[in-house]
Amino acid sequence: MKLPQFSKTSKLKISPGSHSVTTSNGRQHTSQSVVNRWLATLVSMATSDDCPQNGQEIVAQTSTCKTYLSLIEAQPFLHRLFLIDFTVEAAHTVLASPKVSGDSLLMNLVEKVRQAGVVGAGGGGFPAHVKLAARADTLIANGAECEPLLHKDAVLMETEAAALVRGMQLAAEAVGAKDIVIGIKGKKKHAVEAATEACKGTNVRVHLLGDYYPAGDEYDLVYEVTKRLIPPGGIPIQVGAVVNNIETFINIAHAADGKPVTHKMLTIAGAVNSPVTLRVPIGTTYRDVLGFAGGLTTNDPVLTIGGLMMGQTTDDLDSPITKTSTGVVILPRDHHVMERKLKPAKVQAHIGKSACDQCRYCTEYCPRFLLGYAVEPHQVMRSLAFTETGADYWNQWAAMCCSCGLCTLYACPEELFPKEACDDSKAEMRRKSLKWTGPTPDIKPHGMRDGRHVPIKTLTRKLHVEKYDLPAPLYSGKIEPGRLVIPLKQSAGTPCLSKVKAGDRVSAGQIIGETAPNQMGAILHAPLAGKISGVTEQQIILER
Ligand code: SF4
Ligand code: SF4
Repeated sequence: MKLPQFSKTSKLKISPGSHSVTTSNGRQHTSQSVVNRWLATLVSMATSDDCPQNGQEIVAQTSTCKTYLSLIEAQPFLHRLFLIDFTVEAAHTVLASPKVSGDSLLMNLVEKVRQAGVVGAGGGGFPAHVKLAARADTLIANGAECEPLLHKDAVLMETEAAALVRGMQLAAEAVGAKDIVIGIKGKKKHAVEAATEACKGTNVRVHLLGDYYPAGDEYDLVYEVTKRLIPPGGIPIQVGAVVNNIETFINIAHAADGKPVTHKMLTIAGAVNSPVTLRVPIGTTYRDVLGFAGGLTTNDPVLTIGGLMMGQTTDDLDSPITKTSTGVVILPRDHHVMERKLKPAKVQAHIGKSACDQCRYCTEYCPRFLLGYAVEPHQVMRSLAFTETGADYWNQWAAMCCSCGLCTLYACPEELFPKEACDDSKAEMRRKSLKWTGPTPDIKPHGMRDGRHVPIKTLTRKLHVEKYDLPAPLYSGKIEPGRLVIPLKQSAGTPCLSKVKAGDRVSAGQIIGETAPNQMGAILHAPLAGKISGVTEQQIILER
């Protein structure tokens, strides 16, 4: 490989937006020809046939700069060549070594985020580094937080707004976004104030959202912020947007400083004495945090992990808190909502088959239908009446349902289960590899969309949880349970393989799980120092 014409200890520093180069002896070069020479040298190193990373992502140390970005645009295969404070010696080590790997000393943000195990913290669990490898003109922080009774995103904005803005700026640089937006409901006044203050003097702006459910659905949020509609069945990047939860951006800022994801912020609400928002080590069980919420007010608790509308229902208090937990709402088993949720699927389908009068309320309130998509839950309900004939066709009306639950828990006057019918239909479509085959007219929001928004207060009343609608202030003390149950699957993609075995001692932040090579997933780290007391295919048990 051709070596550059500079000393091996030379250091290149290019400030964002400038066209000057400072070498390690402190000399500043402003001549464009010198800058170009450096760039040409680095490019020739990166593109050399001998370079083991030729054509792949090239590592980098800190940040991007406009000079490089223009070069990158001219060299598409090098679009991840982010080099600042890049020593030629390091360039040799990284680019010339046949053993080059992701462990190299130099890392770009995407790699740092991957190494830190950052995933969508709002419940989705999509590995954040995959989204950061895209190119987009708009970056949105989803702070809508519409699940009734949950408040962790508002608390995070109040307490870590500076980290949120920094994480967004770093992410925006990585994807090339110019419009950087925090979406927050106007009613969350303290969060709005903190975010607005943190945005001062930056290129990040606050966009106020209406107080309706589900303003946090990505399709809805992207439309509200950009007026662009995601293609049916598509994702935000298809309209030039990258969307992440508030906490994900904060974790990206921490990842840039080399801090892995080891803790999770969540709200404990419902049938507890003092609802609370707290930050706990991943793997803490719900039982372990009940004391911080003043204990239960029911002897027969049922949990909805992730919230009443879209959460998973369980009565297992020993379920672990993961990277995607946003909160839990606990209700007595005989609460009306719990009675409905706990009805066996067969019973839900049987009642729907006999009682659905095709009134269409479920469709008329469906937020995806109101945005103009072909989601019609009343048609899906018809499929309950069929066996083979017609089922595939009717089921397709669920293809673009986001499982928000509004049709079941708010719209249906008969208290039937259209959301559950849609979930079943989507599962059946996946099994049969069926995609939407119906008409695809130009998508246009319904004329009544704004008038049919369901305010959170109205939804809270309909769910019969007004008495639980209380603040959940931050508990700022340290929480360090004696035993953590760490699931090996905490993200979209494939589960991790354990890197530890029973008897191993681990330090806080040490990698304990990784996906197989070339598989999408997220690295797992030990949240606390301790001893591994057990490893199964599903989880790692860590004891302090
Ligand atoms: S709202 Fe209820 S009764 Fe009316 S069509 Fe939908 S599922 Fe049937
Ligand atoms: S759960 Fe119901 S209301 Fe929500 S998107 Fe699906 S069909 Fe529409």
